[in-house]
Amino acid sequence: MNDWSPRTRAIAAGRPAGAGKPLNTPIVPASTFYAGGDHTYAREEGTPTWTALEEAVGALEGGKATSFASGVGAVAAVLDLFPAGAQVAVPTFSYAGTRGLLDHAAEMGRLKVRRIDPADTAAWAVAAEEADLLWIESPTNPTLELIDIAPLVGHRARVVVDNTFATPLGQQPLSQGADIVVHSATKLIGGHSDLLLGITVTADDALAEELVHARTRTGATPGALEAWLALRGLRTLPVRFAEQSKSAALLAERLAEHPAVTKVAYPGLGTMIAFELPDAEAAAKVCESLELIVHATSLGGVESLIERRAMWPGDAHVPAGLLRFSVGLEDPEDLWRDLRNALG
Ligand SMILES: *Cc1c(COP(=O)(O)O)cnc(C)c1O
Repeated sequence: MNDWSPRTRAIAAGRPAGAGKPLNTPIVPASTFYAGGDHTYAREEGTPTWTALEEAVGALEGGKATSFASGVGAVAAVLDLFPAGAQVAVPTFSYAGTRGLLDHAAEMGRLKVRRIDPADTAAWAVAAEEADLLWIESPTNPTLELIDIAPLVGHRARVVVDNTFATPLGQQPLSQGADIVVHSATKLIGGHSDLLLGITVTADDALAEELVHARTRTGATPGALEAWLALRGLRTLPVRFAEQSKSAALLAERLAEHPAVTKVAYPGLGTMIAFELPDAEAAAKVCESLELIVHATSLGGVESLIERRAMWPGDAHVPAGLLRFSVGLEDPEDLWRDLRNALG
């Protein structure tokens, strides 16, 4: 398994083995199991369907995976490991749901939160020495800024990386020394906009056990169907990611040349583009004028989605004319025609 490429692991990891076994892990809708085996009560040790998904994601990220009801459920479980008064550093522009959880914890007096500009490497270095937890997104949602992980590990703070945008195909933070990787499998891992699911992965066995306990405590357990769908989605992640990234690179290049577009952020890898129009009105008009690209929130599916992020209260500080564009699996020339028409 270890010398297989990620593309092969995505296909073969977590697959049942043995004569007469089904090729695909069954959907096991069970809350409890006969006593004396690996599983007792589903909220405690999970179900065979979760286990198969966890084995596959763990094989890609290089650690032990734990699945949760949603990405935010996984984020909350990680934060649950830190004691009252812990200091957390988070990028100024980063996933609004994570910042919402952190702001709430700060308001309730549980955590101390510092927001740091992703580009301020000096401030991140200071936080690595002073804080208890660095919450890293790279690329960030929705501005697609990058944070260099390697210089931030091995200091006082634990390092958690939300790897939703890069996926394990783009980067494996555990191999760079990060303590925990978090995924919203709702996005690229699932890949079909048909489920909610979150995952944590860590190479530290004690930490992995703590995360399972956090799931048991908080009850943020995935559904049997969702875990099965996420594993089914994961099987094609490498080809989807490669193809959608290729289209994203092409479209980012064309957007950068378009006179109506004032700025394009595309870090060179991945399926997401952030681009700006002069103001909220111009950006909203593009969303309304598209025919093929769907005006909707979320990302990472086979269908292209676009939205103006600043319309959400949690992202009100994002540039008003910024559009977050999730590039799907459609023909990129059809996507470009749609964009060009909408840009006018
Ligand atoms: C969507 C998202 C989440 C939250 O995941 P849900 O599955 O919606 O709960 C966390 N982090 C990032 C970067 C996301 O895009």
